[in-house]
Order: sequence, then C-alpha cells, then structure tokens
Amino acid sequence: MYVASLHLRNFRNYQRLDITLPQGLVVFTGANAQGKSNLLEAVYLLAIGRSTRAGNEGEMVGWWASGSPPHTQAMAAVATCQGSLQLQVDLVGQAQVAGDGSGSANPSPSVQKRVRVNGVPRLVSGLVGQFNAVLFDASDIQVIEGAPALRRRYLDVLLSQVDPAYLRALLRYQRVLAQRNQLLRLIREGRARGLELEFWDGELAQQGAYLVASRLQAMAGLMQLAGPMYARLKGGEEQLQLEYLATGPQSQEQEELRQGLMEALVRGRQREVALGSTQVGPHRDDMRITVAGRELGVFGSRGERRLAALALRLAEGEFLAQRRGEQPVMLLDDILSELDQVRGMQVMEAVARYQQVLLTTTEAPPLAWGAITPTATFRVAHGTVTPLPGVP
Ligand code: ATP
Ligand code: MG
Repeated sequence: MYVASLHLRNFRNYQRLDITLPQGLVVFTGANAQGKSNLLEAVYLLAIGRSTRAGNEGEMVGWWASGSPPHTQAMAAVATCQGSLQLQVDLVGQAQVAGDGSGSANPSPSVQKRVRVNGVPRLVSGLVGQFNAVLFDASDIQVIEGAPALRRRYLDVLLSQVDPAYLRALLRYQRVLAQRNQLLRLIREGRARGLELEFWDGELAQQGAYLVASRLQAMAGLMQLAGPMYARLKGGEEQLQLEYLATGPQSQEQEELRQGLMEALVRGRQREVALGSTQVGPHRDDMRITVAGRELGVFGSRGERRLAALALRLAEGEFLAQRRGEQPVMLLDDILSELDQVRGMQVMEAVARYQQVLLTTTEAPPLAWGAITPTATFRVAHGTVTPLPGVP
C-alpha cells in the first residue's frame, strides 16, 4: 500500500497542505523546525489513530487556528491491493486556543477526535489496521532502554494494526482495569464489598488472557525477524532475543492463561485492596531484550541499543507485511544522520523493498543511497511542501 495524497488543515505548522505522492522512496528535505516530523506524525496518526508525540491531542491543533472552535484535519488517500481507501481524522476543539485569559502554561485546546473511513464515521478502532505504517524515529531507542510501558506499547501498537480483536480486547481491558482499581479503593475505604470484585476479575482475566496469548505468539514471530536483522546490522553472529516477562501465569494456552490470571487475582486480593490497584496482568508485563543472555537496556552500548531499536522496527515492517499480506508504508524520521555509512546503507536496502518509504532529512539534495534513488524529493519550509523539479 502507499499514500497517494495527503491533505492537512490547521495541523501543527501546516495551515493547509495538499500533496500527491508517488510510490517508492519519497524524500522530504529541510532545515530544522520546518515541519518534517509533523508531516510524518500526520501520516502515522491516520494509521494508528493517535499521535506518538503529543501527550495531549490538542497539541496537534495549529497554534494560530482561528476558527471557533478550532478545527484540525488530516486526510489521506491510500492505495491498497483492494482499492483506494480514504482516511480522515478530525480534531474538533472544545475551547479557544489562545487568549482564553486563563494564563495556562499549556495552551493546547481540548479536542474531540472524529474518524471517518471512506467518508463513513467510525470509531478509532475502526480506523486502526486499515492503513499500516511503521514509524522510525530517534526516540525508538527508548523501547530498548526506557520504562516497560514503552515495550508494552510497541507490542500493543503492532498487534492492534494486525488484529482488530486485539485492539478491542485492549480497550475493554483498560476500561475494566480502571473500574476494578476504583472498586479496590472503595473496598479499602469500606464503601464496597469484596464480592463485587468477582465480575471484574472474570472480565479482566478473559481479556487479559487474549492479550497475553497474542503477545506471546507475536513475539515468537518478531524474534525470528529481529534476531538475524540485529546480527546483520551489528556485523556478527549474536542475535537479538526477546522474552516475555509475565506478572501472571506463563502459558501458551489462552484458557490456561485465563484460569491462571483468575487464580492470581483471587490470591493477591488482600494485597491489591491494600494497594488500591491491580498488580498482575498484561498492563504490568514486560519484554526482555537480550543479546547473548545480557539485557541490552542494562549492558548494551548506545550504538548496540540503537541497532536493536532499528532491528525491532524493521521486524515490525516484515511482521505487518506477513500478517496483513500487504506491505506497510515505512516512515523514517531523520534516522540516517545518527548512523554510520554502512548501517545507513543497510537500513536503506532493507526498506527499499517496500512499496513506499517516506523519509525526512536535513541533508541537501540530490540524495541517493547506492542504486537506491528517490522517486520524488520535496522541500519542506515553514509548513509548506514543494516538489523539487529535476531532483529525483
Ligand atoms: P527537526 O529537523 O528539528 O526535527 P522538523 O522539520 O522535523 O525539524 P517539526 O517537528 O515538524 O520540525 O516542527 C516544525 C515546527 O512546528 C516547529 O517549529 C514546532 O515548534 C512547530 N509546531 C509544533 N506544534 C505546533 C502547533 N500545534 N502549531 C503550530 N506549530 C507547531
Ligand atoms: Mg524532526
């Protein structure tokens, strides 16, 4: 699949953008702070239904958006094997952006997100998985060395793109978890009875078992891809290993996982009431990333962590292609500047096989990586994107 056109309104520093894009390697070049990452953020938003950069979705609303309420839109036409898809995300402001007199340090408006697929309103869960993309950026190294939540998110974003049932189970799990935690606190305060927990335990175990079983299965496939990818990038024999660290039972069987989770919840009830939060389940699990038995986040050099992060992203692309039967769009946000020539070339060779690669760089055109040349190059400046004629 590939993005055939992209249309933005009041999206970050893009007041209005309408571009058509070819297949192949498409380069966006420009100085710092011109809108390169914002562009890829918009494309990725249409794939996974949310931003990976914005803590608050209102941050994506253009600062000078004047409408009242401000309105932000990202839209794309995506060509797939099955035909054309039109994807649209609207962020409709609930409050004025600036000059609201509140003197707030965070001027982002609160927004409501609305999604359409082929013009038909859908839930966010109806958007995710329609258009697949993989985003590489400088913060990927956090998946290796950062908090467990980032590794859970890596798995959750990937699985949500391949399996709509996974995303539904995840959303249900998160709602049930919040309700159960609230009930635990009420029980602690003597305002509810333990009996009421049984319903939530059953629900949590049911959804949780599906999440863990899916993650375990995916990790086996991911490791087969990321393992040798890492060895190749590193230039050695040692492969990357992934291991699921479960807070609950360890099993490949969903029914065993469900029963095991139920039992763990019942066993830990007293402690959980005292703490006012649920201690076992996929929301607490982690993924251990090792090479030769040593944890990369602890012992790996900075370069090794970066290569491992790259291997995981490249594996994500292959995994999506295998499971969806169609290649995702690869989004490379200024990652080549951090790699040496050999690694940069290996990454370009690995991604050049995809139907479309959108790559940002601060380097000046013309650009080429051996035989790999862009099908189009655009200059990004002050929230405008213009094709560079004569530069492939
Ligand atoms: P770099 O090479 O430094 O990574 P970039 O071209 O990727 O630069 P972006 O991250 O896309 O830059 O940001 C471009 C500009 O958009 C920045 O100056 C940023 O401050 C600005 N910006 C961010 N959010 C908004 C917003 N909501 N409204 C308007 N402008 C914004
Ligand atoms: Mg950037």
